[in-house]
Amino acid sequence: MIEVKDAIKLIEENVSVSDIKKTELNRCLNYVLADDIKSPIHLPPFRQSAMDGYAIKISDSKVYKVVGESKTGHPAPIQINEDEAVRIFTGAQVPDTADTVVIQEHVEVNDNKITIHKLPEKKANIRKVGEQIKKNEVALLKGHVINEASIGFLAGMGIDGVKIYKKPRVCIITTGDELIEPGKKLKPGKIYESNSIMLKVALKRLKITKVGIFKVKDTLEKTKDVIKKCLKKYDVLLISGGISVGDYDYVKEAMEVNNIHEIFYKVNQKPGKPLYFGKKKNQVVFALPGNPASSLTCFYIYVLPALRKMMGYSNIHLTKKKVKAPEEIPNNTGKSLFLKASAGNNKIKILEGQSSSILKSFAHSNALLYISSENKIVRKGEIVEYFDLNF
Ligand code: AMP
Ligand code: MG
Repeated sequence: MIEVKDAIKLIEENVSVSDIKKTELNRCLNYVLADDIKSPIHLPPFRQSAMDGYAIKISDSKVYKVVGESKTGHPAPIQINEDEAVRIFTGAQVPDTADTVVIQEHVEVNDNKITIHKLPEKKANIRKVGEQIKKNEVALLKGHVINEASIGFLAGMGIDGVKIYKKPRVCIITTGDELIEPGKKLKPGKIYESNSIMLKVALKRLKITKVGIFKVKDTLEKTKDVIKKCLKKYDVLLISGGISVGDYDYVKEAMEVNNIHEIFYKVNQKPGKPLYFGKKKNQVVFALPGNPASSLTCFYIYVLPALRKMMGYSNIHLTKKKVKAPEEIPNNTGKSLFLKASAGNNKIKILEGQSSSILKSFAHSNALLYISSENKIVRKGEIVEYFDLNF
């Protein structure tokens, strides 16, 4: 049995970043950049008018003669002298000899003359060349998570594809003779199967959407076979249940038969003690305890960082925050505790129902308060840490 911090470290050390692929821009949302991106152009590439109005060479004069027009997308090589103006529109190229754009709302037009009733500052309403980004300047860094704005920014620099880290192919395998699909009629001794959908949506929050789901009964043969099948297709196997010490817990043996190499088994924590982490070359396998709250806790603390590392994230763990303990918290278990809690406004409330089978409290929590195994008692008001579940 190992401690929480060692389990976290072993996962960080044993999980490698996924392969890189060049991908067209419209398929890159929520992926992580695998390369620094430098701008191939100055943006904007020319001096642009930021408003509809008149480009002038500013002077004390308020009256200017309009000598031409610069329409957006149609640059005209117009020279202007002092006391001359060019009609101009937002996004149009400002003539080289002009230094200011006066907005049309501040102008009175008479024939081909304008009278400015509010003179702007020199250089007003002109976007400078490279104002947003200069040619060869780093636009986005490796590790950047691509959002909608990033896609627009990249497209605006003329980039139509970037290198990203592939997302891992993940499958969920549930084990248990007692499990029945939600929606079906419950039979004696059976319970509804809830882990697969819960883990699936947790993966969805990490933007992993294509997930294989397999359900097996508690037999060594079936467990072996499903693991064998999944190892052919998936980078990450999340197995639920069957990893404890019961007579019908076959997952560990089935993994051994499939030559999965154990990195650790059992963590000194509550909930989630029978957590298993193993590898086969670059494939990783987590066997999560079947108890739903244990399963989800282990997902947040161990599986999530592993997946984020694979996807190229630089911050892989849930954010840890500090808060004052709201009450005395004795810890006579000798284990590290992850307590379901509700945090906000610099306060935290430990919720009723901490048993590993209970999701009722988890459903109302946005934090996991962490108490280390060495900490026998936390006094009220002492600073404690929690994992923020808002990610
Ligand atoms: P196990 O880890 O297989 O010993 O299961 C521990 C507890 O979790 C048992 O009460 C199981 O019935 C329950 N359990 C296991 N798998 C699931 C699941 N997929 N959905 C809901 N409960 C489960
Ligand atoms: Mg079981």
